[in-house]
Amino acid sequence: MTVKMSSFKVKTKGDADIKDITAEVGRAIKESKIKNGIACVFVPGSTAGITTIEYEPGLLKDLPSAFERIAPQNIEYAHHQTWGDWNGHAHVRSALLGTSFNVPFVNGELILGTWQQIVLVDFDNRFRNREIVVQIIGE
Ligand code: ZN
Repeated sequence: MTVKMSSFKVKTKGDADIKDITAEVGRAIKESKIKNGIACVFVPGSTAGITTIEYEPGLLKDLPSAFERIAPQNIEYAHHQTWGDWNGHAHVRSALLGTSFNVPFVNGELILGTWQQIVLVDFDNRFRNREIVVQIIGE
Protein backbone atom coordinates (compact mmCIF):
# COMPACT_ATOMS: atom_id res chain seq x y z
CA MET A 1 0.00 0.00 0.00
CA THR A 2 1.16 3.51 -0.85
CA VAL A 3 0.02 6.86 0.54
CA LYS A 4 0.57 10.10 -1.38
CA MET A 5 -0.65 13.61 -0.68
CA SER A 6 -1.04 16.52 -3.05
CA SER A 7 -2.91 19.80 -3.06
CA PHE A 8 -4.24 22.48 -5.37
CA LYS A 9 -5.69 25.98 -4.97
CA VAL A 10 -9.19 27.19 -5.76
CA LYS A 11 -10.30 30.83 -5.74
CA THR A 12 -13.90 31.34 -4.62
CA LYS A 13 -16.28 34.26 -4.22
CA GLY A 14 -17.66 32.88 -0.94
CA ASP A 15 -21.44 33.07 -0.27
CA ALA A 16 -22.07 29.41 -1.20
CA ASP A 17 -19.91 29.62 -4.33
CA ILE A 18 -19.75 26.11 -5.85
CA LYS A 19 -16.61 25.04 -7.74
CA ASP A 20 -16.26 21.85 -9.78
CA ILE A 21 -12.96 20.26 -8.68
CA THR A 22 -13.42 16.85 -10.38
CA ALA A 23 -10.68 17.44 -12.97
CA GLU A 24 -8.13 18.53 -10.33
CA VAL A 25 -8.88 15.46 -8.19
CA GLY A 26 -8.53 13.23 -11.26
CA ARG A 27 -5.19 14.86 -12.10
CA ALA A 28 -3.92 14.31 -8.53
CA ILE A 29 -4.75 10.60 -8.83
CA LYS A 30 -2.99 10.29 -12.21
CA GLU A 31 0.11 12.10 -10.94
CA SER A 32 0.26 9.84 -7.87
CA LYS A 33 0.84 6.82 -10.19
CA ILE A 34 -1.33 4.81 -7.79
CA LYS A 35 -3.69 2.68 -9.89
CA ASN A 36 -6.37 1.48 -7.48
CA GLY A 37 -7.50 2.90 -4.18
CA ILE A 38 -9.35 5.70 -2.43
CA ALA A 39 -8.81 9.45 -2.59
CA CYS A 40 -9.78 11.56 0.42
CA VAL A 41 -10.55 15.09 -0.78
CA PHE A 42 -10.36 17.53 2.14
CA VAL A 43 -10.67 21.27 2.62
CA PRO A 44 -8.81 22.62 5.66
CA GLY A 45 -11.07 25.27 7.17
CA SER A 46 -14.36 25.53 9.04
CA THR A 47 -16.45 27.58 6.58
CA ALA A 48 -16.40 25.37 3.45
CA GLY A 49 -17.49 21.88 2.49
CA ILE A 50 -16.99 19.16 -0.10
CA THR A 51 -19.68 17.01 -1.68
CA THR A 52 -20.87 15.82 -5.09
CA ILE A 53 -23.65 17.25 -7.22
CA GLU A 54 -24.78 17.35 -10.82
CA TYR A 55 -22.98 20.52 -11.86
CA GLU A 56 -25.74 22.25 -13.84
CA PRO A 57 -27.17 25.81 -13.55
CA GLY A 58 -30.40 24.82 -11.75
CA LEU A 59 -28.73 22.90 -8.96
CA LEU A 60 -26.08 25.60 -8.60
CA LYS A 61 -29.01 27.76 -7.42
CA ASP A 62 -30.94 25.03 -5.58
CA LEU A 63 -28.12 23.98 -3.24
CA PRO A 64 -27.39 27.53 -1.95
CA SER A 65 -31.17 28.07 -1.57
CA ALA A 66 -31.47 24.90 0.48
CA PHE A 67 -28.63 26.02 2.76
CA GLU A 68 -30.28 29.44 3.11
CA ARG A 69 -33.39 27.66 4.44
CA ILE A 70 -31.39 25.36 6.74
CA ALA A 71 -28.95 27.96 8.16
CA PRO A 72 -30.02 31.46 7.02
CA GLN A 73 -27.37 34.14 6.68
CA ASN A 74 -29.34 36.98 8.29
CA ILE A 75 -30.15 35.59 11.71
CA GLU A 76 -28.26 35.91 14.97
CA TYR A 77 -25.51 33.38 15.70
CA ALA A 78 -23.74 33.20 19.07
CA HIS A 79 -20.51 32.90 17.04
CA HIS A 80 -20.85 36.59 16.11
CA GLN A 81 -20.42 37.54 19.76
CA THR A 82 -17.18 35.52 19.87
CA TRP A 83 -15.38 37.05 16.87
CA GLY A 84 -17.67 39.62 15.23
CA ASP A 85 -16.91 38.10 11.83
CA TRP A 86 -20.61 37.59 10.92
CA ASN A 87 -20.12 34.19 9.33
CA GLY A 88 -21.93 31.97 11.86
CA HIS A 89 -24.09 30.59 9.03
CA ALA A 90 -20.91 29.55 7.14
CA HIS A 91 -19.58 27.53 10.08
CA VAL A 92 -22.93 25.80 10.65
CA ARG A 93 -23.31 24.95 6.95
CA SER A 94 -19.73 23.61 6.77
CA ALA A 95 -20.34 21.39 9.80
CA LEU A 96 -23.52 20.00 8.24
CA LEU A 97 -22.03 19.38 4.79
CA GLY A 98 -18.69 18.03 5.98
CA THR A 99 -15.20 19.06 4.92
CA SER A 100 -14.10 15.89 3.14
CA PHE A 101 -15.26 13.39 0.55
CA ASN A 102 -13.88 9.93 -0.21
CA VAL A 103 -13.95 8.60 -3.74
CA PRO A 104 -12.72 5.24 -5.02
CA PHE A 105 -10.71 4.91 -8.24
CA VAL A 106 -9.84 1.94 -10.45
CA ASN A 107 -7.11 1.88 -13.13
CA GLY A 108 -6.46 5.55 -12.34
CA GLU A 109 -10.07 6.58 -13.10
CA LEU A 110 -12.54 8.03 -10.59
CA ILE A 111 -15.64 5.96 -9.93
CA LEU A 112 -18.34 8.62 -10.33
CA GLY A 113 -21.79 8.68 -11.89
CA THR A 114 -22.12 10.31 -15.32
CA TRP A 115 -23.81 13.38 -13.82
CA GLN A 116 -21.84 13.44 -10.59
CA GLN A 117 -19.12 16.02 -10.05
CA ILE A 118 -16.99 16.63 -6.95
CA VAL A 119 -17.52 20.18 -5.71
CA LEU A 120 -16.10 22.60 -3.18
CA VAL A 121 -18.81 24.77 -1.61
CA ASP A 122 -17.44 27.92 0.02
CA PHE A 123 -19.88 29.30 2.58
CA ASP A 124 -17.72 32.14 3.92
CA ASN A 125 -18.90 35.72 3.58
CA ARG A 126 -15.88 36.87 1.54
CA PHE A 127 -13.55 35.89 -1.29
CA ARG A 128 -11.23 33.02 -0.35
CA ASN A 129 -8.24 31.25 -1.86
CA ARG A 130 -8.73 27.65 -0.68
CA GLU A 131 -6.19 24.88 -0.60
CA ILE A 132 -7.72 21.48 -1.32
CA VAL A 133 -5.82 18.45 -0.05
CA VAL A 134 -6.03 15.05 -1.78
CA GLN A 135 -4.73 12.12 0.23
CA ILE A 136 -4.47 9.05 -2.01
CA ILE A 137 -4.26 5.55 -0.57
CA GLY A 138 -3.87 2.47 -2.71
CA GLU A 139 -1.50 0.40 -4.78
ZN1 ZN B 1 -16.19 32.76 12.01
